[in-house]
Amino acid sequence: ALEARAVSAWFGSHQVLSRVSLTMPAGAVTALIGPSGCGKSTFLRTLNRMHELIPAARFGGEVFFDGEDVYDPSWRLTDARRRIGMVFQKPNPFPAMSIYDNVVAGLRLTGTRVNRREKDVLVEESLSRAGLWKEVKDRLRQPGGALSGGQQQRLCIARALAVRPRVLLMDEPCSALDPTSTRRVEETIHELAGQVTVVIVTHNMQQAARVSRQCAFFLAEQGTPGGIVEAGATSDIFGTPKDSRTADYVAGRF
Ligand code: ATP
Ligand code: MG
Repeated sequence: ALEARAVSAWFGSHQVLSRVSLTMPAGAVTALIGPSGCGKSTFLRTLNRMHELIPAARFGGEVFFDGEDVYDPSWRLTDARRRIGMVFQKPNPFPAMSIYDNVVAGLRLTGTRVNRREKDVLVEESLSRAGLWKEVKDRLRQPGGALSGGQQQRLCIARALAVRPRVLLMDEPCSALDPTSTRRVEETIHELAGQVTVVIVTHNMQQAARVSRQCAFFLAEQGTPGGIVEAGATSDIFGTPKDSRTADYVAGRF
C-alpha cells in the first residue's frame, strides 16, 4: 500500500495542505475528489516527490510505500519516480519524438537501463497495457505529436508504465479528452487494477464512481489549508456519506 501520514505542504509561507493521512491500498484504484484549489494535485505530487521540482514547495509528514520511507535520504527522486509513475491532465508526449522513443523515454527519465531487445518487449507490453498497441504497432516510427489527443494520453500512460511502476498517479487524465477516449482510458485503468495501485484525481463524479474502489473528498475551507473531509469505500462516499459537505459535493451542490 501507499500511505500518506500527516502530509502538509507549503508554497513559500502559504500552507495548502494540513496533516493529510490516507492509505491507498495496493492494487486498488483510489479517487481524489474535491473543489478546485483544495490541494489534490499538490497531494498527488507529494506522493512521488514530484513537488521537489517546484521552487518554493515545502513538504511535511511521511509517505510510505510498502513499508519503505519514500522520503528516506537514501531514496533519490528517480527511485520514487520509478516506483510511482505519473500522468498529467494535459497529454505531454515529446511531440517530435517517435511513438517508440516516447515509450522508451520513460526508462531514461528514471535512469533505468535496458538493452535493445528488452526495449522492444517493453514498448509492446507498455502500449498494450495502455490499450494503444493495436492502433500504433504499424507506425511506431511516427512522431508522438501525430496522434490524436486521446491516443497521446494513452501514449503518456504507456511511457509511465514502461518502467513497470507499482503505483500510477493520474491527475485529471481525461479532462482534455472526448468521451470515447475517456472510455478507453477508463478501460485501461480497469485493466491495471490488481497489478498497479492507481490514484486518480477527477472532477467527474461518474468517473470516480465508475473507476474507483476507494474515494477521498478533499476540501480547503475559506482561508484554511486543504485536508480530507471524508474517505472510504466509493459506494459509501456516494451512497451514504457521513459528512453533509461530502453529500453536497457528490450531489453537485457545491
Ligand atoms: P484543481 O482542481 O483546480 O486542479 P487542486 O485541488 O489540484 O485544484 P492544487 O493545484 O493542489 O489544487 O492547489 C492547491 C493550492 O496551492 C492552491 O491555492 C494553489 O493556488 C496553490 N498552488 C498550487 N501550485 C502552486 C505553485 N506552483 N506555486 C504556488 N502556489 C501553488
Ligand atoms: Mg489539480
